Amino acid sequence: MRFYVPTDIYVEKNCVKKHAKDLLAIGKRALIMTGHTSAKLNGSLSDVTEILNAGGIAYQIFDQVEENPSTDTVGKAAQTAREFNTDFIIGIGGGSAIDAAKAAALLLVNPDVNADDLHKTQPCALNHAPVVAVPTTCGTGSEATPVAIITNHKINLKKSIPHRIFPTLALVDGKYLASAKKKLIVNTAVDALAHMVESILNVHSDMLNRMCPEYGLKLWGQCKEALLADSPVDSSLYEKLMYTSTIAGMSIAQTSTAVPHGMSYDLTLSKGTPHGAAVGYFLAAYVEVCQKKVPADVEKILSLLGLNGIDEFTEMLRKLIGTCTITRELKDKFAAAMKANRSKLDLVPGGIIPEDVEYIYDKSLVVE
Ligand code: NAP
Ligand code: ZN
Repeated sequence: MRFYVPTDIYVEKNCVKKHAKDLLAIGKRALIMTGHTSAKLNGSLSDVTEILNAGGIAYQIFDQVEENPSTDTVGKAAQTAREFNTDFIIGIGGGSAIDAAKAAALLLVNPDVNADDLHKTQPCALNHAPVVAVPTTCGTGSEATPVAIITNHKINLKKSIPHRIFPTLALVDGKYLASAKKKLIVNTAVDALAHMVESILNVHSDMLNRMCPEYGLKLWGQCKEALLADSPVDSSLYEKLMYTSTIAGMSIAQTSTAVPHGMSYDLTLSKGTPHGAAVGYFLAAYVEVCQKKVPADVEKILSLLGLNGIDEFTEMLRKLIGTCTITRELKDKFAAAMKANRSKLDLVPGGIIPEDVEYIYDKSLVVE
């Protein structure tokens, strides 16, 4: 058994300010990567720049990271970082900004690697510049994973790049969720739920790495009524939602994600479905398929969440993210590709047959 998360993680109110020393020790010239607006509105960007200004660290802001960041954007950011003589990168935002920061940190110190080749395996492991992660959504846990999921539009591919890039430092503060719409909180919380479920229903799950998803699922269960309610999520839950997401990230850092994540990428690429919802549509049927092979694990997941059976789990997800309609043609295309996706199928405990893959698509999507 092995457990490995080399990131220095702090979870705290006013985390950036309280751990300014750690942030300032990472480097001398920073590229800050964010999405277009949210980091400016929720205070995370100004929290970071205030510390950098006071500490005499030079920085440049790259605020062009789009949702599901592309190889083009990451390449542009790396070029900006190089021109500014950057020695570390700070990703502030949801998984998109943090993943883009990781990929740019890799390109920065490997000028011979083209952004379009990010998905190609290299003959040996590549170095990367240090990354600091300041998450502002409660879903991806990217601050605690070595994964960067990047989209190459030229070849219509959304996938994790094969390089491991753990942030050096993660500063996790629930207060940034105050500006998030309920839908964003729900979608990203469903992503965190999927990370924990897929980490347990996974051939790489073991007694040591289960400590994260098992504890995290309990915490998630304590938030579920607030997520299901019509009213906004109470601010007293922001911190719990945020570190549940970090714990979920630590879970997949050990096992990787499984089939629902593998199925989600085509949906996001073709329909622009937000990541958390795209994963969530496939989650209940995946659990159902796994129940035949590992019934005790499924029972444990449901009981940690405080649910009585898979039907309640399915209904909860339907209430949270609704349904997804797709054409038969697209569904058949996605299912055919998934049946060949050994990197995800081989993670299913007890194996999975093509009929199960079809079943998950049929059960999860509304086919028009
Ligand atoms: P996201 O794509 O980073 O952000 C979604 C939207 O939320 C953006 O429009 C963003 O606005 C906005 N936003 C972010 N924080 C906000 C806040 N506090 N208040 C208001 N709006 C806010 O969403 P995400 O779900 O966190 O990340 C999804 C990406 O992460 C996908 O590409 C997914 O594949 C990847 N992912 C990575 C891992 C990993 O381990 N690395 C795991 C799972 C998923 P701005 O654009 O203005 O910032
Ligand atoms: Zn995810």
